[in-house]
Amino acid sequence: MARQVIIGNGPAGVVAAETLRRADAQAEITLIGDEPEPPYSRMAIPYLLTGKIGESGTYLRKDADHFERLRIRQLCARVEAIDSARHTVTLADGSVLDYDCLLIATGSHPVQPPIPGIDLPQVLSCWTLADARAIAAALAPGARVLQMGAGFIGCIILESLAARSAQLTVVEMGDRMVPRMMDEVAGEMIRRWCEGKGVQVRTGRRVVSIAPAGDALRVKLDDGETVEVDVLINATGVKPNVDFLQGSGVAIDVGILVDDSMQTSVAGIYAAGDVAEAVEFGTGRRVVNAIQPDAVEQARIAALNMAGQAASLPGTFVFNVLDTLGLISASFGQWQDLPGYTSAQLLDEAEYRYLRLVFDGEQLVGANTIGHTEHIGVLRGLIQGRVRLGDWKARLLANPLLLSEAYLARGLAATH
Ligand SMILES: Cc1cc2nc3c(=O)[nH]c(=O)nc-3n(C[C@H](O)[C@H](O)[C@H](O)COP(=O)(O)OP(=O)(O)OC[C@H]3O[C@@H](n4cnc5c(N)ncnc54)[C@H](O)[C@@H]3O)c2cc1C
Repeated sequence: MARQVIIGNGPAGVVAAETLRRADAQAEITLIGDEPEPPYSRMAIPYLLTGKIGESGTYLRKDADHFERLRIRQLCARVEAIDSARHTVTLADGSVLDYDCLLIATGSHPVQPPIPGIDLPQVLSCWTLADARAIAAALAPGARVLQMGAGFIGCIILESLAARSAQLTVVEMGDRMVPRMMDEVAGEMIRRWCEGKGVQVRTGRRVVSIAPAGDALRVKLDDGETVEVDVLINATGVKPNVDFLQGSGVAIDVGILVDDSMQTSVAGIYAAGDVAEAVEFGTGRRVVNAIQPDAVEQARIAALNMAGQAASLPGTFVFNVLDTLGLISASFGQWQDLPGYTSAQLLDEAEYRYLRLVFDGEQLVGANTIGHTEHIGVLRGLIQGRVRLGDWKARLLANPLLLSEAYLARGLAATH
């Protein structure tokens, strides 16, 4: 009977455990997580903060006996080390588990930039259910809040913070909002939208110090501006949870390096989700694509291989849809302009609509959109399908709105 051990019980760990059970009725499956709650989705935290759901609404599986029924043993414990030669996992209490195959699905944790005052109790992250409780307790209605970082997660949580705070300031060190996902035009449009909703936005600025000011905080920016707030939310980014792998032989860059079967550099040890660094679709570059749909798909592929069924993921497709205070933006693939690429853009500043298409040769390789949600599926199909556009490229350069027509003419043909 195969002993399958999964470290991490977020979306990746849970889907892997369920996939393993479906593939192998006999396997002994152990799912280890170090948070006290039942497996939950971080994605649901913004809805919890706005009161749309309660804590149980964040749980990934609603039936209390779901894992028991599937004979998935759950362990609430922290893994401290793995020994890949002995095939063992050591828990914080010193106990040791044996495995035949191991999946590392430990996700990531918020980074703490080295800023004086970052350890003050009014500085909070928004990553775990415990963080959400702390934010809910700290944000009395009308609280003054400074959010440090306007990346993907920072923008997602703005709505929950704006709903609770009277005065919300966002400080982003990049020259625009969501700089790793959107171009200058789009980043600027998102900033303007946020300001229109009453949020103060400082881009190209850094927080240099945080100091107590009575019960409040005095936050100093690099241009000398000082902002007094009740709470500071640190949304400056996350880092994969890999520290416990030291000495294990598992190769790590930023995340754990995996091949297209999600196997690490050590045979029999797999990785999936926010902790994994996979090859990017299109460019062949390595990326940690920290979004839930990817985590789940990687986990499924890893679990099938752990169960002895060959399965592979041809490459991670970097694709993000973002809701910033009600403004929907999306980025796809290679949206940056690189030498040799051509692009077309359509901009309606007043209506907050933007569409930029990026081509490499006769293929669409990336896009940025604001509004234009009707084109999201087609854009994904054309880019991920590596559709050869032929003369449709010239038509799209002249009129980017012809995306659906191009897909019908060339994309569907490519899939038949
Ligand atoms: C507020 C917020 C909003 C988000 N919104 C979106 C969204 O809209 N769309 C989207 O695609 N993504 C979103 N995400 C990101 C998404 O939640 C992650 O991509 C997803 O959780 C990754 O799943 P995972 O299973 O890899 O890792 P995680 O969900 O982080 O789960 C990993 C688990 O492993 C545990 N663990 C870590 N180390 C150990 C150890 N040594 N021993 C035992 N257990 C350990 C962790 O405590 C954790 O419980 C959001 C995230 C946040 C915080």
